Amino acid sequence: MSSVLSRINVDYEQPEMAGSCSTHHAWARVPPEPAPPERAALKERIRSLLKAKNAVMVSHYYVHPDLQDLAEETGGLVSDSLEMARFGRDHAARTLVVSGVRFMGETAKILSPEKRVLMPDLDATCSLDLGCPIDAFSAFCDAHPDRTVVVYANTSAAVKARADWVVTSSCALDIVRALKAQGQKILWAPDRHLGGYIQRETGADMVMWNGACIVHDEFKAFELQALMQQHPLAKVLVHPEAPADVVALADAVGSTSGILKAAREMDAPE
Ligand code: SF4
Repeated sequence: MSSVLSRINVDYEQPEMAGSCSTHHAWARVPPEPAPPERAALKERIRSLLKAKNAVMVSHYYVHPDLQDLAEETGGLVSDSLEMARFGRDHAARTLVVSGVRFMGETAKILSPEKRVLMPDLDATCSLDLGCPIDAFSAFCDAHPDRTVVVYANTSAAVKARADWVVTSSCALDIVRALKAQGQKILWAPDRHLGGYIQRETGADMVMWNGACIVHDEFKAFELQALMQQHPLAKVLVHPEAPADVVALADAVGSTSGILKAAREMDAPE
């Protein structure tokens, strides 16, 4: 494969303590697609290395299909970040190959501290993680000592360590409801859209870190409405990391696994 990688620049929001944001820049390397014979040879090499090194591969739903195929063909798993980490913890392999972004590798290591965790690219990361650096976040927590700190899984290990609770989008509503029932006030991070959804659903007293996912932030309600007009019989499934006006158009709102379940169970002709 050519070693020349094209590079794209990506803007993301860096929240400030006071709640405003400034724009920072990240970048991504995009490797060229290998030709079919080279791709087949690479996949075969990865298969044999996984076996020889007693390693298992876990891939996230949104990595390249080749990495998903490789995980499934070699006894690994394609899933969300928490299930990837749980699968790695319960598997006999001593080495976990985590194909996903950086916080997913860290989460796998938290659950399997005695295992070796390898990642295809340590520079692959997430705007929610990038936009919630530990020093600034810790100062934000210090400024709200009366609040229980609840953070989303899409954060660094250091931010997780600063939190009282770490939640996924599957369990966030239940955890916040339970904390509210105990009379606790919440400090939520890092995703303001997911936090806003939880606040609307639970009525909890929440202050938010002002982060966002650069991918979900691109989903616009007016574009979704245009798509809905083109496909009037289709159901709309939305992840709560999307902006509130997009969530408001959904037939079902849920985590990645919740969306998959809804797609299977909903009676939609397209
Ligand atoms: S939250 Fe957004 S930026 Fe982060 S890994 Fe998921 S899609 Fe990528």
